[in-house]
Amino acid sequence: MAVDRERDRERMVTVQLRLNGIHDERVLRAFARVPRHEFVLEETLGVAYRDQALPIGQGQTISQPFMIATMLELAAPQRSDRVLEVGTGLGYQAALLRELADDVTTIERIEALASEARRRLSAVGYDDITVIHGDGREGAPDRAPFDVIVVAAGSESIPRALLDQLAEGGRLVMPVGGPRFMRLRFVRREGNAFTDTDAEPCIFVPLRPGTA
Ligand code: SAH
Repeated sequence: MAVDRERDRERMVTVQLRLNGIHDERVLRAFARVPRHEFVLEETLGVAYRDQALPIGQGQTISQPFMIATMLELAAPQRSDRVLEVGTGLGYQAALLRELADDVTTIERIEALASEARRRLSAVGYDDITVIHGDGREGAPDRAPFDVIVVAAGSESIPRALLDQLAEGGRLVMPVGGPRFMRLRFVRREGNAFTDTDAEPCIFVPLRPGTA
């Protein structure tokens, strides 16, 4: 069973990521290490390594591996970077981020998901990721500034608080658009200037206000 999972993971890295243009070796290695099947529901265990988003309860999803890889390649977290993720879900992307950087904070608005993510992350050894239950549109002011911010839910615009919490040279990646058409947006901060680039079309669950 364990060997099969490893093989599934290697195949995911080669077929879904490398052959589709993901080249960053650190990102590819992170995907080869994190056990995606530990971050899906039991009923989807058999398809845990398919290149698709899967339901994780509460109307939410674990994101598609290729889309996460694209975001991680754009944001390029380095080992010493302070990283913030908005939209923890069950914690898969947080674990990938922790493979790349030592200091990872993640915020989830649905309490049941935040606590389940905490449980799953510690169960597979990612026990020093800070999981906050809260509204990620406000960022995490007491842990800011961040070198990297990755938002795993989409909205029409990038919340101001997140831009304010970017460090000098910091990078933010977020799906921007309406429910039917989003595009990844990549923002880099140089001093008080923000440069803004559009990337990949994508579909994500909506970034919602408040907590639940
Ligand atoms: N990063 C996850 C993706 C989960 S889907 C993974 O690796 O699988 C996106 C998540 O964002 C959902 O769990 C949703 O509840 C959460 N979310 C939506 N709006 C939010 C907000 N304002 N603050 C924090 N989390 C939010």
